[in-house]
Amino acid sequence: MAMKRVLVIGAGLAGSEAAMFLARRDIQVVLVEGKTVKLNPAQKIPTFAELVCTNSLKSMDATSGHGILKNEMKAMGSLVLECGTLHAVPAGDALAVDREKFSAEITKRLSENPNIRVVSLDAENPIELMKQFECDFTIIATGPLTTSKLEQWIQKEVSGDDFYFYDAIAPVVDADTLDLTKMYFKDRHKAMEEGGDYLNSPMTKEQYYEFVEALAGAEKVQQKDFEDWKFFESCLPIDLMAERGKDTARFSCMKPVGLEPDIKGKWPYAVVQLRKENLLGSAYNLVGFQTRLTYKEQVRVFRMIPGLENASFIHLGSCHRNSFLNARKLLNTDLSSKKFPEIYFAGQITGVEGYTESASMGLYAAFQVLRKIRGEDPVSFPVETAMGALVNYIMTIEKPCPSNINFGLLPSVELTKEQYRGDRKRTKKELVSKRAHEVFQNFYSASIVSTLK
Ligand SMILES: Cc1cc2nc3c(=O)[nH]c(=O)nc-3n(C[C@H](O)[C@H](O)[C@H](O)COP(=O)(O)OP(=O)(O)OC[C@H]3O[C@@H](n4cnc5c(N)ncnc54)[C@H](O)[C@@H]3O)c2cc1C
Repeated sequence: MAMKRVLVIGAGLAGSEAAMFLARRDIQVVLVEGKTVKLNPAQKIPTFAELVCTNSLKSMDATSGHGILKNEMKAMGSLVLECGTLHAVPAGDALAVDREKFSAEITKRLSENPNIRVVSLDAENPIELMKQFECDFTIIATGPLTTSKLEQWIQKEVSGDDFYFYDAIAPVVDADTLDLTKMYFKDRHKAMEEGGDYLNSPMTKEQYYEFVEALAGAEKVQQKDFEDWKFFESCLPIDLMAERGKDTARFSCMKPVGLEPDIKGKWPYAVVQLRKENLLGSAYNLVGFQTRLTYKEQVRVFRMIPGLENASFIHLGSCHRNSFLNARKLLNTDLSSKKFPEIYFAGQITGVEGYTESASMGLYAAFQVLRKIRGEDPVSFPVETAMGALVNYIMTIEKPCPSNINFGLLPSVELTKEQYRGDRKRTKKELVSKRAHEVFQNFYSASIVSTLK
C-alpha cells in the first residue's frame, strides 16, 4: 500500500480526535490550525481543542445518551476522553474538565506525535492545500466558527446558501463575590449531606416571577439580520425562555426537582445552578444561562439572583454564529462530500451539536478515511449505536437542526408486560443502553477491529 497522507483542517475537538486516530495507525497527518494566527471571538487560548463555553463534556452515566456515546468513543481510543479524564474536575455524574490543562495536554500529545505535522495557518482552499502538502484526503473540522475564506469556499463549492445560524453562551462569576449564606451545595437527586459539585441559588415564588419579568423586559442585543436567529431547542437563551412563558425556565434549567430542601429547610420554587469552572472553584458558570441580554442588563438582572447581589462577572453571556452543512444533501454517510469524495467533514460543521458529539464525529470520519486508505468500503455504524444514531439523524433530517445525542435519536424498545408495570422510563433507558453497547461491540469486532489492525 502506497503511503497516504491526510490533511486535517482545524485542531478543535473533532480535528484533534481525527488526527490522533489516524496518526496512531501510522497514517501521516498534516494538521492545520488557524487560531495560532488569530483567535476567533469565542476563543481565549492558543492551544487546541478549546472548550469555548461550559467546561462540561456531559454525563458519564452509562444509561444516558452521552454515556453511551462516551463508551463508543473510549473503545475507539478517544484522545478527548483520555485527556478529559486526566484533567477532570468534580461535577457529579458529568465529566467536567480544567479547560486550560485539558487543551494543553491535547496540544502536547498532538505536537509530539511523530506522524503529525502541525501547521499554523488559516486555511482557505482545501484543494490547493491538499496539493501543497501532498495529501490524498482531507477532513474539514473547522467547527461552528469556520473562518470566512474557508466558509466562502465551502459555500461556493459545496453547500450553497444554507450554511449558518446562531447559538448562545452563559456568563461566569467570580466565586469570591458570591454570598454563600444564600446558596447551598447539592447535586440533583443526591442527599444534602453528601454535599455536591453544584452550587444552588434557591428562589421563592415572588423572587422567581420578579426575575422572569426582569429577564423578559431587559434590553437585548439587536442583530442586523434578526430573523436569522435560530437557536438549539436544548440551548435556548434564558431571556428567550422568559419571553416564551413565565414558567418555561422553571421547567427547564431552573427546575427545583431533586434540589430540595434549601438551606433553611424550605422547598425552593425555582433554582439557579452554578457549576465550577476550574478545580480551585474560583469561578462558576450559570448553568443554562446563555443569553442575548446586553452586558449592562446582564449585570443588573443576574444580580437579582439570591447570592449574586454583589457578583463580579469574569465574562458575560453572548450569542454567536454556528456554521453547519445540510449533511443529507451534501454528504455521503461516511461524511465524505458528494462532490469531492476525497474531502470529508467532521465535527459540528456536519450538523451535530456539542463538544462530545463533535469529537465523536472526528473519530467517525477518521475511521472512514482509514477504511478508504486500506481499500475497504465505507460502513455505516448501526443506528442502535450513539454514533450511528447521530449520523443517521444528520443524514435524514429534512430541515437541518443541530442535535446533541439523546434517546430520541435511538430506536425505541418494546417492553414486556412485566417491564411495563415498573419504572418504564428507566427500564427503557437501560434496555436501549444495553442494546447500544452490545450492537457496538459486535460491530466493532466485525468491522472496526479489521480496519484497525
Ligand atoms: C460561543 C460558543 C459556545 C458554545 N457552547 C457550548 C457548550 O456550552 N457546550 C457544548 O457542548 N458545546 C458548545 N458549543 C459548541 C462547541 O463549541 C462545539 O460543539 C465544538 O467545539 C465543535 O467541535 P469542532 O471540532 O467541530 O469545532 P471547534 O472545536 O470549534 O474546532 C474548530 C477548530 O478549527 C479552527 N479553524 C476554524 N477555521 C479554520 C480555518 N479556516 N483554518 C484552520 N483552522 C480553522 C478553529 O480555530 C478551531 O480550533 C459552543 C460553541 C460556541 C461557538
